[in-house]
Amino acid sequence: MLNIQLINALSDNYIACIINAAQKKCVIVDPGEADPVFNFLNENHLSLSGILITHYHWDHTNGIEKLLQRLEVPVYGPAKEPVPGMTHLLNDGDVINLEKLGMRFNLMHIPGHTLGHIAYYNDDVVFTGDTLFTAGCGKIFGGTVDQMYNSLMRIVSLNEKTLVYCGHEYTTSNLKFALTVEPENHDIQQRIDQVSKLRQKNLPTVPAQLSLEKLTNPFLRCEVPSVKKAAENYAGKALSSPQEILGILRAWKNNL
Ligand SMILES: [Zn+2]
Repeated sequence: MLNIQLINALSDNYIACIINAAQKKCVIVDPGEADPVFNFLNENHLSLSGILITHYHWDHTNGIEKLLQRLEVPVYGPAKEPVPGMTHLLNDGDVINLEKLGMRFNLMHIPGHTLGHIAYYNDDVVFTGDTLFTAGCGKIFGGTVDQMYNSLMRIVSLNEKTLVYCGHEYTTSNLKFALTVEPENHDIQQRIDQVSKLRQKNLPTVPAQLSLEKLTNPFLRCEVPSVKKAAENYAGKALSSPQEILGILRAWKNNL
């Protein structure tokens, strides 16, 4: 199992830092800022070996140029998106083998939030950027609802013990929406209690296991009758496909 720490950045972004403690080396995911990364490296006596990018949005990439001014490291990112300093353009099915660090990640193209968005995953973890959030999903900016649905279904098909690392601390508001959709869902009520305890101590609610996401994340539960019914009530009409239901849930959350 990898040692992964989260670095706080901007107002609610997380930069995941994947550490090889024996070698005192690490790679980071989605540096929206450089200074918190420099501080973290200094405090923990780590050197940076690489940067992984999930999608091109500024709050995931804004730190790259400043990091590259002081450090010479490879930048891995989505082939279809403009990422500053990118040295390795990745497509669906690619594998990054960071042999010296003992790290290996598979690539999944997960369009929806943006058209080129990618996820990095192995047997234990998945870095989902702004596509799958803990208890929620990203807004659909670059892709279509159908693409977002397929991307979420691909992520959820991973081993259910997989830990989901996403790009933001949004769990509290996501669970509030989840409970609006499914007021009778006890797993959501329980998760709200756990999450509020963590947030009171200013601790991250990321990562979360996929198994918990399946029980509590409405965007992964479009085929559950109570979710379908809630979406139909909101839409004021019958909805026939899970893709349609996802589209209504996304619009509903956007309008809150
Ligand atoms: Zn984004």
